Amino acid sequence: MLLRFYLIPLLLFMMSFSMPVIAADDSPFQNQTVAFWPLNEGQGQHIRNQNADDFHGAVTKKGFTWKKSVASFPGDKVGGHIRIPDGGKLLAGPAFEISLDVRPTSANSVGPLLGTKSVSESRGGFNLHYWLKGKRLSFNFADGTQVYHFRFKCRLPVNQWSSLIVRYDGTDVVAFVNGKEIGRHSQPGQILKNNPRAPLLIGGYMSSTDCWKGQLRNIRLKHLATAKGSQVVRVKTSPKIDGIMNDAIWKKTGFHPSVSDPKTSYALCADDTHLYIAARCSITRTKRNKNTPLVISLDPEITGHRYFQIELTPGNKVSTALVGYYGRLVQDDFTISKLATATKVQATRWTAEIAIPFASLAVPEKNQPYWRLDLRQMKSVSNRKRQMRIISNLPAPRYSVKQKRRIGSLIYQWKLNDPAPLDLDLKFRPPHNTWFVANNLVVPNWFNIDLPAKSIRDFDAHLILDLPNGIELLHVGTLKADSSVKTKLRKSRFTWKKENKGRPIIHQGKPYTRYRIDVAEIHQRLHTIGPFYLRSSQPNETVQTLYYQTVYPNSKHPVEQLKLISKTFPTPGPPKKLLASLTWMSPEDYMNWPDGLNSYSQLGFNAFSIQKRDRNLLPQGAKTFLDRARQQGMKIVAVDSAFHSLLSQPDAHSILASGRTAHDVCPAYRGHAYQKELQSIALWSAELQADYLVLDVECFQKGSDYGISKSCSRCADYITKTKLSPRMSMISLGTAIQKDVHKSVKKVHQQRRITPPNIGFYHSKPGGFVYQNTLCFDKSYPQFVGHAEPVFYNTQKDSTGSEIRRMRRLIDHGDLIPWFTTGFHVAGGRPIEYPSEWVYDRVLEGYGNGIRGINWFTFKNFEAADFYYYAKAIESIKQVDNLIYDSQPLDNVAINKPYKVTAIKHLKTKSILLLISEYTKGASGKVVVTLPVSIAQGSQLYDLARHKKIKTISGRRMTFTFNPGVKGAHTSLFLIK
Ligand SMILES: [Zn+2]
Repeated sequence: MLLRFYLIPLLLFMMSFSMPVIAADDSPFQNQTVAFWPLNEGQGQHIRNQNADDFHGAVTKKGFTWKKSVASFPGDKVGGHIRIPDGGKLLAGPAFEISLDVRPTSANSVGPLLGTKSVSESRGGFNLHYWLKGKRLSFNFADGTQVYHFRFKCRLPVNQWSSLIVRYDGTDVVAFVNGKEIGRHSQPGQILKNNPRAPLLIGGYMSSTDCWKGQLRNIRLKHLATAKGSQVVRVKTSPKIDGIMNDAIWKKTGFHPSVSDPKTSYALCADDTHLYIAARCSITRTKRNKNTPLVISLDPEITGHRYFQIELTPGNKVSTALVGYYGRLVQDDFTISKLATATKVQATRWTAEIAIPFASLAVPEKNQPYWRLDLRQMKSVSNRKRQMRIISNLPAPRYSVKQKRRIGSLIYQWKLNDPAPLDLDLKFRPPHNTWFVANNLVVPNWFNIDLPAKSIRDFDAHLILDLPNGIELLHVGTLKADSSVKTKLRKSRFTWKKENKGRPIIHQGKPYTRYRIDVAEIHQRLHTIGPFYLRSSQPNETVQTLYYQTVYPNSKHPVEQLKLISKTFPTPGPPKKLLASLTWMSPEDYMNWPDGLNSYSQLGFNAFSIQKRDRNLLPQGAKTFLDRARQQGMKIVAVDSAFHSLLSQPDAHSILASGRTAHDVCPAYRGHAYQKELQSIALWSAELQADYLVLDVECFQKGSDYGISKSCSRCADYITKTKLSPRMSMISLGTAIQKDVHKSVKKVHQQRRITPPNIGFYHSKPGGFVYQNTLCFDKSYPQFVGHAEPVFYNTQKDSTGSEIRRMRRLIDHGDLIPWFTTGFHVAGGRPIEYPSEWVYDRVLEGYGNGIRGINWFTFKNFEAADFYYYAKAIESIKQVDNLIYDSQPLDNVAINKPYKVTAIKHLKTKSILLLISEYTKGASGKVVVTLPVSIAQGSQLYDLARHKKIKTISGRRMTFTFNPGVKGAHTSLFLIK
């Protein structure tokens, strides 16, 4: 698919566009021989490179002979090859050619002809083989992220010389035998990465097997001039960035077609400081009637795993991002500073001009003259790995001293010099560049693990942690896997210890204490290792450095730094009426948290959660812990993946025609196992005396699909009986299930004379939403369920408020207890985090819009900084706990741009809570708020974040200063009473 996708536009482009002639001396790419070994020495052990006075080789094995002055290799199991030390560094770049003469001496002559000892995804390299009983030529090369394989059908005549050429021009790999093309494969936009530590081996790469039998001569490695169409034209006068293509330079450069639907074309030029792009785009709209933006991806260092992305709309709205981990990590808070863009919309198309400063992309001064670029108009922007093409002839940037300093911090902040994550590599990586360490509480921190593999892995790797004086490591916990990990391994296996070899550890002249964390086994789905519980004895805002390093048996990552900031954490204490629960935290997590009960409640949480396990078993010690917590006023949230046990009960499966079996749960099944499950749910909740019962029911999708299509006879009978539509029948069944749960829970709790819990179903929300065709909040609230649990697993900065407000208006009370995250994991991908300061906004956008609780997912995404900003937000919330609990939305509140305001008011008193936000920059400024109602004389306006009264107010209008509650956040709460 992809090959075809690329091939056609590229070919068209090469044929139909006349490119300007670029003076030869402008181009860094000329056909250039980098090494030539004729192998005509005729005697001895030494092989000469006749292209230059280096990269000479030596014959390494006995058995190698000269026949009529020509190098003759003995073949299998005898060995014999030529070794060129450091030869792996010779060949690199986007266009190259390998040529040699080959003479097999028997029909069984196969083996490696030449190549670096290994071709490694990470370290690069190439090799060329003659394989498969003399039927195939194969060539492989690596770009630093993956290995590309190319196969050519090829039979070389025995005892005759054939000349072979393999050429890559940045687009196609082509092979020739005796000047005739034998095959071609398209692989545009790749770079052969040299492998500087590897030798180049001619005629073999293993000691005694896989060696070439026959003769070789005239081995030549060449760099080629790249295709001219991809060259960036160097300019002295930069184009004017006005969106109009009338600059002389664009006539000179010509336009290239992009690999894009709708049709797009672009032109490139550059000077010492900027890359300039001009683009011609079609006017097209998405299904949702939005203009499709132009998306430019740039990989200046051809990392292949990280690139910059610029998205530009016809209306000149720009968004930028740094995309990492092969497209899986999108950091959209990355700003390309001093990026200039302009667009111009015409009748049938729109045009854009863009100036991209090298400095803002931190392009190194010694950068190679080629980059990778992808430019397209997207119908939908996905994060998948871009298929980029090479652009070449880019100047090496020149920077001022001041710019260099700024680039240095850019590189540090965004980890731009991080090595590529590897497939077989375990690398520890903090979620952010800093760790907060509390000096008044104990709060966890985490390392994420780069591990794109798919299963449990054994490791012989360890992490070194060097901690400065004043920072103590109290404990490293073992993290349990989420229930989604369906293997025997439910946790990582590792050990930690202080390393004391009597040798002081010194960094920057200061003493450090070294800890070593050995990792034996990890499940990749965990993504995270920790928690690391540190405690600081340093004053608030003390900045220190932690040094860490990932070490594995044969190599190690460079020593890396992490900023430690000692902080006196806010200690608002738990809210009284609202639920504040880190719901995805297991008993092992909170029981192993040093000072956990105190720290957790001081930070502003008031509930511990516990997930139901097999046979309702509680982990050892959990009962005592929870009893103690309850005595201190904490609530209990019982979590149950209810009805999932029915998946293993054949009785409960859909009844399909012709004896087909289904592994599902039929929503119409009401047999013994169903009744048992109802009882089990109720007992679990009663045993814990749960205040909240969270039911994570995700097992009815398949069963209800069969029901809707009437493929299940049990469901079909029900549909006939009720005379409802199939869809409505399934909802009716779902509602009946929720009714049964409610009844069972109520009965068991009444028998035990305890208050039944507030029941909620995961992923439920008002407004007609039906989960898995069965569970509909609107039908079951408030009779059978007490609250809705909408899910907000996203990482955009202003992604919660408007939805929360919409849902809040749909139900009378604030019976919404949504799921929020401080960062979560995409399937098969890597950790996605948003800045910890935004946790502050999430908390305010939740409670501040009048909801009664928040479930946080998940403990392992909650690093100390997240807890810090969470607690900061709870400081405001605690002051208006009562108001929020008994509130209703107040509509028609207005504010001056660019600020936004929403308000809730207490049902009985006249208190009004204002939530003000500024999401573009989090800018402070003067706000003018107009209320729909008049405020009584003598009312007061309070700034809750700063715990202070602003002024006495009255009437409908008020003017005051807005500041985000914390630096880096975008929201703040104000109270009128
Ligand atoms: Zn059914």
